[in-house]
Amino acid sequence: MSFEALFYALFGWVVGMLINHAADVLPRHRALNTAPICPRCGMLRAPLAWSAVLGYLSRRHICLGCGCPLALRSVLVELVTPLLFVGLFWRYGFSIQLGLLSLYSVVLMLVTITDLEHRLIQHAVMVPALLIALVGAFFNHDMTARQAVLGGAVALVLLYAMYLLALPISRLMGRLARRPSEEVPFGFGDVTLGTFVGLITGLPGVVFALLLTILSAGLVAACIVLVQVMRHRYKPLTTIPYGPFLALSGFILMVYGPDILHWYLH
Ligand SMILES: [Zn+2]
Repeated sequence: MSFEALFYALFGWVVGMLINHAADVLPRHRALNTAPICPRCGMLRAPLAWSAVLGYLSRRHICLGCGCPLALRSVLVELVTPLLFVGLFWRYGFSIQLGLLSLYSVVLMLVTITDLEHRLIQHAVMVPALLIALVGAFFNHDMTARQAVLGGAVALVLLYAMYLLALPISRLMGRLARRPSEEVPFGFGDVTLGTFVGLITGLPGVVFALLLTILSAGLVAACIVLVQVMRHRYKPLTTIPYGPFLALSGFILMVYGPDILHWYLH
């Protein structure tokens, strides 16, 4: 591995720590510039435990306040982010494209974590992310600004329509199944995330990203139902968060969109 790639991997590790910190404090409505705390009891963490990897290696991973260990998610994020950053570095080299796609990947990872852990896609994350993606559209080498903006617009219209339809349909299903539920199957956060994905994948990439989202989410939902039926614990109207599927599909199309389109058209 070249020195530059190693440097970028180290940078990715620090960014991974920041993603973990943001995922710990933002859903609890704390400011980003607070010191890392235990998400469970709020106790300040030892400096070595600011990094989950270092925390486990130095055996400072147990909170002194509540005895709760550092989340394994934090370790995973600190390991995956450098790998992701090195992968992007190998593909794009030091360039504006590398900076943009790294930043977009950070947003996608953060949203995936908060949606999985709290069923939450926060405006505090998505509003700045949308602004950055809108400006970034003019510097993206993989597409024209027009394609990017059109991608965002298409996603916004389609997902907003889904958002408007989702609640009445789920209420109706709940009434039919005699299990009234107020759980929102498709929240406004999914609309903002989808628009972000549209801006970073552009048109026509966003169409493939949305198709991949529907396919992958449908496949996982079918597997969940299958497992529930096999264990005789079938719960009708179980909803799954769409954010992670949108984020993963968005990432795949953001990086490999041009290759996929080339393959599809030829
Ligand atoms: Zn604690």
